[in-house]
Amino acid sequence: MTTIGISRRVSSLKASVTVAMMNRAKQMQASGIDVLSFAAGEPDFDTPDAIKQSAIDALRAGQTKYMPTLGDMPTRQTIADKLTKENQIPGLKGEHIAISAGGKHSLYVLCHCLLDAAAPGEQPWEVVLPVPSWVSYAPIAELAGGRVVEVPTTLKSDFKATAEQIRHAITPRSRMLILNSPSNPCGTMYSERELREIATVVAEAARTIAPHLVIVSDEIYEKIVYGGTRHFSIGSVPEVAERTITLNGLSKAYAMTGWRVGYTGCPGEWGKQFTSAMATLQGQMSTNITSFVYPAIRTALNECGAEVEAMRTAFATRAGVISKRLQAIDGLRTPRPTGAFYAFPDVSAHFGTVSPAGKRIASSLDLCEALLAEAHVAFVPGEDFGGCGGNHLRISFACSEQQIESGMDRFESFLGKLTRA
Ligand code: PMP
Ligand code: GLU
Repeated sequence: MTTIGISRRVSSLKASVTVAMMNRAKQMQASGIDVLSFAAGEPDFDTPDAIKQSAIDALRAGQTKYMPTLGDMPTRQTIADKLTKENQIPGLKGEHIAISAGGKHSLYVLCHCLLDAAAPGEQPWEVVLPVPSWVSYAPIAELAGGRVVEVPTTLKSDFKATAEQIRHAITPRSRMLILNSPSNPCGTMYSERELREIATVVAEAARTIAPHLVIVSDEIYEKIVYGGTRHFSIGSVPEVAERTITLNGLSKAYAMTGWRVGYTGCPGEWGKQFTSAMATLQGQMSTNITSFVYPAIRTALNECGAEVEAMRTAFATRAGVISKRLQAIDGLRTPRPTGAFYAFPDVSAHFGTVSPAGKRIASSLDLCEALLAEAHVAFVPGEDFGGCGGNHLRISFACSEQQIESGMDRFESFLGKLTRA
């Protein structure tokens, strides 16, 4: 029945390699193979009890019906208060907040609210994206009609784009600049000074050549920081505050990946207009998120600081353990992770080799496939993160120290067995 077909839009959509590797590792584990998985960008901790209890209480109390599309006002207001107090974003009220089913869903809906397919004779909207970057930004932006303008970064600069590079990438068709600090997959962070410089460039471009430009600042890893750099929200800079959409969610900080909670906040008149566009689209897409989750969001944001801090400390220790192991392995170059829970070593010195089972290793993908098949270690190949990502692979260290040690033993031993072709 292959003649029935699938839309061009979806047929040409790249599947998420992070999701694919995560699922493959799980499948192999389910079939009894002892796979050590470092593929999932997902905390290994359980959701704190108080959060679970709130959802259970709401469920028992019958909060099981449809709710306002973007969430009830007390929850939206709680998020606005959090962004005001912790992130110093000015002018936010509940009406500037949209709650969606995960940060990925927020990103999807916001891209469709900002981008369009180009009309005949028109240039497409451009999405300025420092790369390597999370695998979903480019496909989601392109699906909404945007053209991605990659800003290449290097290991030497901790994979950060400079304000000057961003200035050069901006054109009259620039619609979005996507920033992600701390970064998935790089594990590095922008400093306050660097973000202020970028804000100055965006504000100037918006006044001159790029009046439609909006910053989308994905801060989903904001709580997982341990390298001495303080997390800073670019949306707190007054000159760009009303053209910055801060994107966040509960998946990473609160170990709530399966709950599916994401949100956006954008202040000002346009922020209100944008948020109401989010409601229109989401109202035709999924309506509200699971009703009995709203009280759990309030509990997480208001009461779970100690649990978040305990998880942060564990990630900090693990970052130390994995860094030490990776630094000691021949032929790898690894930036020091300062945020999120990813190590992103350059493995290109091992290209041009052959694995013990005879597989030629010419790319990160080849290496990850061979590691999975022969050493039973799951990493994410770097190609789909864009830019120089193809020279790297991503290791999520959101797992026990013991697993990190065993995984690094397997990785090191496997690399030691590669022979020159
Ligand atoms: N942004 C980044 C950078 C991520 O790594 C993820 C992880 N999936 C997300 C957004 C979205 O996460 P979620 O949909 O679970 O909120
Ligand atoms: N963001 C996580 C990751 O990068 C989860 C999978 C996904 O949504 O991409 O692994």
